[in-house]
Amino acid sequence: MMAERHAAPAAQPTATGDLIFMGPPGVGKGTQAKRLAERNGWVQLSTGDLFRDHLKRSTPLGVLAQRYMDRGEYVPDDVTIDMVREFIDALPKGTRVMFDGFPRTVAQAEALEALLAQRGRSIGRVLLLDVPRDELVRRILARSRSEGRADDTPEVIARRFDVYAEQTQPVVEHYEQVGRVRRVDGLGDVDVVTDRLIEAAS
Ligand code: AMP
Repeated sequence: MMAERHAAPAAQPTATGDLIFMGPPGVGKGTQAKRLAERNGWVQLSTGDLFRDHLKRSTPLGVLAQRYMDRGEYVPDDVTIDMVREFIDALPKGTRVMFDGFPRTVAQAEALEALLAQRGRSIGRVLLLDVPRDELVRRILARSRSEGRADDTPEVIARRFDVYAEQTQPVVEHYEQVGRVRRVDGLGDVDVVTDRLIEAAS
């Protein structure tokens, strides 16, 4: 406690600025992100949703993204970063963004930092939704049966966990080192988890 109180101001998570919402595959991030954004009036930027939307419309970006999504791999950084840049540039003034599923690589995190700084924006809190791995696998398989997502087969699920550990865990560690992360227990009733997230974001 004492150490926290004496930490440098730069290391304190702040309640202003854009938010980043992170968590491993199957943690319930999509559901919670929508609820959080609605309740707080934030704009949600889900890169997964944007890719799926492009895919539905069969745009060149959608066709490219599908190759990676179907294998549980990440879409290349340059493509993903370009898409996020366009989204940020189309935002009305005064909006607070919640990045959902972005950044997922160190290169994306660095690009985001620069993009925001160039536009007079900054990252406030990083919310990390936490659930034990066996519960995650159980949830993904249940979702796969009900929604029929193409990237929810056992092989693809395993790959998504590996990719998260290899590429996204270092991003979490980076934000932890700079004192931005708030971990939120993702186990339990959906409404209870939403309340925990709202508390952690404020
Ligand atoms: P999601 O709905 O967030 O789980 O994203 C579904 C898929 O979209 C991921 O498995 C990736 O193939 C792709 N994707 C979403 N966000 C990113 C990102 N930030 N970087 C690279 N690929 C992404």
